Amino acid sequence: MVKMEDAPQGVEGAGFFATSLDQVVGMARKNSLWPLPFATSCCGIEFMATMAATYDIARFGSERPSFSPRQADLLMVMGTIAKKMAPVVRQVYEQMAEPRWVIAVGACASSGGIFDTYSVLQGIDRVVPVDVYVPGCPPRPEQIIEGLLKIQELAATESVRRRNAPEYQQLLASYNIK
Ligand code: SF4
Repeated sequence: MVKMEDAPQGVEGAGFFATSLDQVVGMARKNSLWPLPFATSCCGIEFMATMAATYDIARFGSERPSFSPRQADLLMVMGTIAKKMAPVVRQVYEQMAEPRWVIAVGACASSGGIFDTYSVLQGIDRVVPVDVYVPGCPPRPEQIIEGLLKIQELAATESVRRRNAPEYQQLLASYNIK
């Protein structure tokens, strides 16, 4: 008989079956992330390089870019986001099913970058929750891949039930377009 203290770490208070299920689901999610590239400017070019043969993002199971939010679980925002575009970013995020993750690729998506001006959103985390920020102007493909690997860590270790927790739902509700 498996004792609670011997069970793999995963969900506090959960038994062996639930924690093992989390691990199996996490492994599957980790190796099959489908990115939705929301590319508006120069950082998008680096994403193209990341997808191509030299850097070959297919090695990590993410070679299938999805241009439908319904069939994507990783939103990658790359480039300058004008304030007029912010509602679109939010809408795309809302159309993605859980579990979903977000990477802000480059300085513009992370903080507005060099465009400290009235018309540019000063970071996409003003409208959607961001899981990983990739620095750089533009970041190199290796950095974008490192961001993807961080998301893989999250996908592999996250409980299948965390996303339904009231705290997470409150966090989501707190993101309003300003
Ligand atoms: Fe272009 Fe730099 Fe902004 Fe990327 S961070 S979109 S390279 S200005």
